Amino acid sequence: MGVRDWPASPRSQLGVSGAEPPLPPMIAEFQQTLRRFALEVVRPLGMRLDRMSAGEVIAPGSPFWEFHRKYRELGIGIETLRALSPEDLSLMFPILFEELGYGDAGLAISAGASTLPLLLAYRFDNGFLLERFSDSQLGCWGITEPDHGSDQLDPSGQLLDSRGRYGKPNCVATLRGDRIVINGQKSAWVSNGPVAEICILYCAADTGSGPDPSHGCVLVIPLDLPGVSRGKPLDKMGQRALPQGEIFFDNVEVGRDYLLAGPEDYQRAVYCIHSEANGLMGGTFAGLAQAAFDLALDYAHERRQGGVPIIRHQSVQHRLFHMYRKIEAARALTRRVILYNNTAPVPALQAAMTSKVTGTQTSFEVASEALQLFGGNGLTREYPLEKLLRDARASLIEDGCNEILAIKGGCYLIDEARLR
Ligand SMILES: Cc1cc2nc3c(=O)[nH]c(=O)nc-3n(C[C@H](O)[C@H](O)[C@H](O)COP(=O)(O)OP(=O)(O)OC[C@H]3O[C@@H](n4cnc5c(N)ncnc54)[C@H](O)[C@@H]3O)c2cc1C
Repeated sequence: MGVRDWPASPRSQLGVSGAEPPLPPMIAEFQQTLRRFALEVVRPLGMRLDRMSAGEVIAPGSPFWEFHRKYRELGIGIETLRALSPEDLSLMFPILFEELGYGDAGLAISAGASTLPLLLAYRFDNGFLLERFSDSQLGCWGITEPDHGSDQLDPSGQLLDSRGRYGKPNCVATLRGDRIVINGQKSAWVSNGPVAEICILYCAADTGSGPDPSHGCVLVIPLDLPGVSRGKPLDKMGQRALPQGEIFFDNVEVGRDYLLAGPEDYQRAVYCIHSEANGLMGGTFAGLAQAAFDLALDYAHERRQGGVPIIRHQSVQHRLFHMYRKIEAARALTRRVILYNNTAPVPALQAAMTSKVTGTQTSFEVASEALQLFGGNGLTREYPLEKLLRDARASLIEDGCNEILAIKGGCYLIDEARLR
């Protein structure tokens, strides 16, 4: 369209996900399907789960199981992802999590955590584990421990205070010959922990000279092995649809085939999973922010004060603009980072961290501003805003506290060669 063909007062109507450039037809259809799924399935189930106790969330017949059954029916498993080109994968992956996050962030994280064991098996090109396990099994990622939360992001010790030391790990895998024996526990924060069937376990390794957390190991294991038990599901403030809880290991034994990364590969494995998970988080919480914005935009057209819809008030327009601006930036950043990381020879963890920090910070700021636009109604459980704000708040800690990610990401900006 030439400029003279524009309407006399030009304006452009944005699509469901803002200033979206034309997507390839297959991806556009995928996005539409996912948006319907988010609105018709994920959001209503997430709202029901939000009102339940942690025990009710994981009980047989709960909406949590309905979500996973319907999500599996979409057929977005590891085989589908493996068949895509890196470019298509880099578009579909963020859109998948944006849309799931648009529905319910806790359920989006449950789906994301579930894919991590097989996604990492794929990234490490481990044929045994890809054959042994399937997408129909609910997965989880056990890395943090009761005594080691932020520490677990830092196997290279970059964050360690000069007076500090890691101390005793809470979970150790003893590697002897072709057998591995696991003892200890992971923290109460393992997403899907109370119900997962398989776990990608990051823990200290003992190869004969005592446990060494900086040279840990990574295993993908079934959770029906003798010696595995679970803690009580955790009751928490936000993302209540996401079950979380400890996993305990009492002399749990597996063969060496289940080892995804040994001590020599441990730092690579930590780097790899954080590069994946931080991108996924960026997408999910850009989606949550979009949901809060859409609700606030609708409300601003409906709610009248001073005899006019509140969107007529200049301060409301100003606030909505800044919410919209932040979401566009968070979404664009995440997609760019995921494309870079899927196509570069080595992904940039500092870039993935920008996506996580920006997406989650945006979700918190936008959900808070959206609640403010709802006035008193924003505070009541009759309206969806207080839930979105609770869900967004948890994300600033989840997958690494944002301040830790910023320090760690800053470490990757140092060019040692320039300092010599
Ligand atoms: C919703 C949710 C989902 C999660 N899912 C999983 C999961 O699937 N699997 C899993 O294993 N874990 C999971 N976690 C755990 C999560 O990764 C940790 O909560 C997070 O890494 C922080 O650890 P922590 O809670 O022990 O806090 P701590 O590490 O004890 O930190 C407490 C405070 O101290 C600050 N701090 C700590 N160390 C430093 C430092 N070196 N420099 C400056 N400040 C510091 C932190 O920023 C924070 O403010 C999840 C958490 C949440 C909230």
